[in-house]
Amino acid sequence: MFVYRLLFICLASVAVAIAADPTPAPRRTAHKTQATPEDPGITFNSVHVDGPYIAMTFDDGPSETLTPKLLDLLAAHHIKATFFVIGENVAEHPEIVTRAAREGHEIGNHSWSHPNFGKMSDDSVRSQLRRTDDAIRSATGSRPTLMRPPYGSITPREKHWIHDEFGYRVILWDVDPLDWKRPGPPVVRNRILKETQPGSIVLSHDIHPGTIEAMPSTLDALEAKGFKFVTVSELIRMATPKPSHPSPQGGGNPPASATPSPSPSATPMQQPSTTP
Ligand SMILES: [Zn+2]
Repeated sequence: MFVYRLLFICLASVAVAIAADPTPAPRRTAHKTQATPEDPGITFNSVHVDGPYIAMTFDDGPSETLTPKLLDLLAAHHIKATFFVIGENVAEHPEIVTRAAREGHEIGNHSWSHPNFGKMSDDSVRSQLRRTDDAIRSATGSRPTLMRPPYGSITPREKHWIHDEFGYRVILWDVDPLDWKRPGPPVVRNRILKETQPGSIVLSHDIHPGTIEAMPSTLDALEAKGFKFVTVSELIRMATPKPSHPSPQGGGNPPASATPSPSPSATPMQQPSTTP
């Protein structure tokens, strides 16, 4: 009995201590999302999702010969991908971009001529993005909502004004097979297979023959592992908050969300994914 009383007293004093805690509540700032910490919701390297979903992304096209081949392959697999296109190439082959969009792929802005945004004036960056945005719109009928800076090079300040002015999310990647070095199809495939996990954004380029050669076996192997393919915007829409700690049983800090969970079973995000 004494033990129970003691326990009660302990719990009561903890409760009082919590109630009296004068700390102002800015736990929100510690809340981690799938985005990079300095700009949640704007920049994505990968996305925290519940299921085996990934986004394949192809940069620097369209290529007159390789992109149509890739589109045929994606269609045969019923896979939707995301293309970060170069404005100059869109102007040269708008029909390929029109086809990609018509077949359900997403088109993102990858600049007009592939310069390094990190070393440019705002006006030059703006012009690169504006011209490409216009070219995509005229090829597909709608404006892109995603942007990937060439080389992944962009300053934090640029991210913010570009997001404010164009409404773009800045999409980077977490899987990079370095296919632009043309290491050969087996290496491209193996690197992608090794690094890809649920929520991954996979970078590659539809202007290198070896990348396109690698894709049939890469897609087969990813499918065999249980991965499902969505566009980057679809992947972002599937985002779930990261658990703040591994154990669903609690203790520790509550999630930053102000709404308490009604019951433990109402947090499906805790379930482990079925994929490797
Ligand atoms: Zn590029």
